[in-house]
This record gives sequence, structure tokens and C-alpha cells, in this order.
Amino acid sequence: MRFSKSYIKTLKETPKEAEIASHKLLLRAGMIKKLTSGVYTYLPLGLKALKKVENIVRREMDRAGAQEIFMPVLQPAELWKESGRWEVMGPLMMKLQDRAKRDFVLGPTHEEVVTDVIRNDVASYKQLPLNLYQIQTKFRDEIRPRFGLMRGREFIMKDAYSFHATRESLDEEFDNMEATYKRIFSSCGLKFRPVEADSGAIGGSGSKEFHVLADSGEDEIIYCESCDYAANVETAVSKVFHAEKEELKAVELVDTPNVSKIENVVEHLKVPVERTVKAMMYRDMGTDQVYMVLIRGDYEVNETKLKNAVDAIEVELLTDEQLEKLGLVKGFIGPFGIDLGDIKVVADDTVLEITNHTAGGNKIDTHYINVNYGRDYKADIIKDVKTVKPGHVCEKCGGTLASARGIEVGHIFKLGTKYSEKLEATFIDEKGVTHPIIMGCYGIGVSRTLASAIEQNNDEFGIVWPSAIAPYVVDVIPANMKDAGQVALAEELYNSLLDDGIDTMLDDRDERPGFKFKDADLIGFPFKVICGKKAAEGIVELKIRKTGETFEISKDEVISKVRELMKQY
Ligand code: ATP
Ligand code: MG
Repeated sequence: MRFSKSYIKTLKETPKEAEIASHKLLLRAGMIKKLTSGVYTYLPLGLKALKKVENIVRREMDRAGAQEIFMPVLQPAELWKESGRWEVMGPLMMKLQDRAKRDFVLGPTHEEVVTDVIRNDVASYKQLPLNLYQIQTKFRDEIRPRFGLMRGREFIMKDAYSFHATRESLDEEFDNMEATYKRIFSSCGLKFRPVEADSGAIGGSGSKEFHVLADSGEDEIIYCESCDYAANVETAVSKVFHAEKEELKAVELVDTPNVSKIENVVEHLKVPVERTVKAMMYRDMGTDQVYMVLIRGDYEVNETKLKNAVDAIEVELLTDEQLEKLGLVKGFIGPFGIDLGDIKVVADDTVLEITNHTAGGNKIDTHYINVNYGRDYKADIIKDVKTVKPGHVCEKCGGTLASARGIEVGHIFKLGTKYSEKLEATFIDEKGVTHPIIMGCYGIGVSRTLASAIEQNNDEFGIVWPSAIAPYVVDVIPANMKDAGQVALAEELYNSLLDDGIDTMLDDRDERPGFKFKDADLIGFPFKVICGKKAAEGIVELKIRKTGETFEISKDEVISKVRELMKQY
């Protein structure tokens, strides 16, 4: 591409709405343009980079044995009602009606459609396993679209779906996809980490997310400093050290004036925090069911774990007003000595291990001591709902856990038979018996991957593209456009780089070299080839964007040097 003819508009100022590096730089380097909240146009440079990511994804998915298809964005409501997700996905879905007032949705994901694609055609175990994927625009009416391409309302996803006759076959494909994802993200030049992930209300044994580590990440990753354990905090576990078990003592109500915080309870009653239990009051925002969540005093409730435990779409803490309405005494709530009515009790699994613990007295300024699970109260649900914190102990190796921010770029998931049962996608095994097809699904946020690559590769001057996904790998710059020799050499090199299949820009604008270098750094071409004073001798400068290193080389060495450096940068 010739810069003089290209549609590239770089900006000097950072647009105010952009908070994180990738968003700022995508806008400043003229790669994307906002239409409305969470919806962007890919301009020529942005689209070239996006296509490179797509092609890496496509190459590796094909290599892994998956086959590309292309499913409709426009999907009838009936299919979503059949799977039961019309209600579950709720406001996240962009819904619309046709002229006959029939409901439709713009696909937020494609489990339903892909299951419909195969349900009448796959009948026998002989047709399995199968892995179908597509690269396509998804629509989600996110509560908070933000950070540019990171969380859009319209974004590009690669979604793959696999179909199996046996669990073992699904396990194999899951591993195959994990290996494939590692190749994809490595090829994109990303530093990433596969982590154990929340399987959602669906349950299921296997779910892994791929996170690009970056301070701007919306997710918290817990990882072990000594072994390879890593998990999203939404699912992370740690080793719990229980207080020694005691003979059960009689419950006593004691005065704890103005003592409602756990630290103060511990101090006032002289009990170890391992013998305290606090009660947190939550509400299922869908059904309005209220839950008393019991957890050891030194732990905090993880709302995603809680959501899964009670099978809710969203949960929230009760407000003071709501507590009052239920006759609960803020700061002194407990499971003992109270008529809970319709309130259900969720006990974190550690609560069962504590003998003679404290609990709120359900009256102002009081606590109970020597309360015991089983003898004094029971729970409707017992589950791990703890939040793991840095400093906790690794269950796997005893090492210390730490935390980092991550951007979820991929998610692989063992679905099982959730969709095939609902949509009646079955196959017949060797013995002629009918079963629901076992499924897996595998997503990559293609546009988010692009933004993540910038998040990890930038400096004060602009983007530093890994050459595998750079819109153009080389920027050929004649230093002085008035010097015919320099211009001729630049043209020659531009053409020979193109002949060799290297994506190249020729900055043939009639501008000062400093101006061109600034744009080149902002756009982030991995390599500049500068045709300057020694052009007449056939010597050029090759500069690496990432390191700032410069080499003087002969024009004949340019291609081989670029090829060599592309492996490294
Ligand atoms: P998140 O937790 O970030 O909302 P998700 O778990 O809902 O994502 P999946 O349904 O697993 O997302 O979608 C697969 C991939 O699509 C994600 O791993 C992510 O990379 C990408 N993705 C999801 N939502 C968005 C979005 N709003 N904008 C851009 N990419 C997205
Ligand atoms: Mg996900």
C-alpha cells in the first residue's frame, strides 16, 4: 500500500472516552471508528490486522481437524425457546421482530443453531466425532460495553462446536482444542495463561479460559507461585486450615455491644476467627428468593460461586431497607434462634467443620457462642462459595497463591448433552440404542484478541505489533522525497518486498522524515526500512520497532533480514 493513497487518519490527541492503551491506540492509529456504544467500523489498517488474527485461527482450527461453516446471525425465537435460553439470556440478547411480528434474535452465540444444523443429518455413531466452526459477528447487549474492542455489543468470535458418541471422545477433542488454542495465541505473539474456569450453572467437568495477562484485564486470575495451578477467581480453590474440633458445648447468648464486625467479635469474645461464622443476606434477582449465606468469618462470599450454587442468573446483597422489612438486625444476623420463613440457607462447606462457633444473636448487640451446624441449624445448600485471596495456600502443592489481572480471549467448554437433549439431537450406537449427542464448545474473541495484543505490545510512541498480526510488516520510508535516488530505491525495495509476499507500506507522502517516523511508530509497523543518504550506494537502514535497534544493510539483504527478524518479533 502507498501511504499517499491510503485511507489512514492518525490522531494527535487521545479521544477522551478511551481509558486503556488498546482502545486509545486503535483510535489514534486510525484502525477503528466508533459508530455507537460498543459498535465499531474496522478501518483499513484495523481490518488488515483483524484478518491476520482470523487467518491464524482458521489455519490452526483446520489443522486440528475442524471444518468451517457459516451460520445465520438472524435466528428465530422458537429455537431459543426450545433450548430454554430465550428467558435465561434475557436482556443480553438483541431481539427484533419481522413484519409478521415474529420474534427473532441476533445471535449472541450459536449452540442452538449448530445443534439444529446437525440434528436431522447426524444419525449414527459412524458420523461422529465432528467439529464445526465459524468466524462471525456476534451481538450481545452488554450492560457495560467498554474499552473499545474489548467488550463490544457487536464483535467477532470464532465459535466451534464438537459432537461425540462418547465422553472419552469429547475429552480427546477438548485436549486437542486446548493445544490448538495454545498454538493460536502463541502465533499471535501473546503472553497468555490457560486457567480453570467457571462452568456456570450448567455444571460439567471441564472448562478452561485462556487469559492474556494485562493490568487492564476485567478478570482476576489466581495462580500458584510454586506449581502450575491457575484459575479464574470465580472458581479458584485454596487449602483451608480448620480449628481443632471440640466437644460440643451448650449455646449461650452473650452481649456484644456495638460489636458487629468480625474483627471486633474476635477481639471482644476472645475467639479465634476460625471459630466464627458470619451471615450474608443475598437475593436472587430473577426469582426474588432470599438466601442467608453462612461463611467463616475470615472468608468472603464469591458471587459467581454463589450464583452457581443457587442456580441464579444474578444475585445481589440485600439493602438495609430490605433487611429491615424481613425483620433482620443488620450486623447481628445468624442462623440460630430465628424463624427463617421462606429464607433459604446456603452454607459454605467450611462451616460444617467448625465446632462451637459464634453467630449473630438476631437481636441488637448480641451474639451466640457455641453454635454447631447440624445440632443447632441446617442448610438447604452446602457448597464452596469462598473467595480465594492472594496469600491463601495452594490445594495442589501447598505453595502460596497470588493474583493477576487477565483478559479472557478464549473459553473451551465440555457441554455434555444440555443442548442435544433439549433439541433432540440424537445418534444410534453400535447396538442400535439411541443417545443424545455429547457436545463441546470452543470460543475465541477474535476482535478482543486483537485488542489484547495491543494491550500487551505498546509503548509511549504507539503500538508495537508482533509481525504475525501487524497490518503491514515493513514500512519503507524514503527520507527525502526530493531525492530521486532515495525515492527510486524505496520503490524498488517496496516492490521486491511485495513480490516476496511481505505486507509492506511505502510512505511516499511528501512529508518530513520525522513526521513519517512518528506515524510509523504510532501505527506500529514492526520494521522500518529507511532509504536515506547512502541510497546511492545501495545501503539502507533497517530499524526494529520493538527494540529501537538499527542496522545498516545492503538493499540485497533486506528481504532475508526481514524474514529472519519476523521469526523473532
Ligand atoms: P465475558 O466473561 O468476558 O463476558 P463470556 O464468558 O460471556 O465473556 P463466551 O460466551 O465464553 O464469553 O464467548 C467466547 C469469547 O468471546 C470470550 O472468551 C471472549 O474472548 C469473547 N467475548 C465475549 N463477549 C465479548 C464482548 N462483549 N466483546 C468482545 N469479545 C467478547
Ligand atoms: Mg467465557
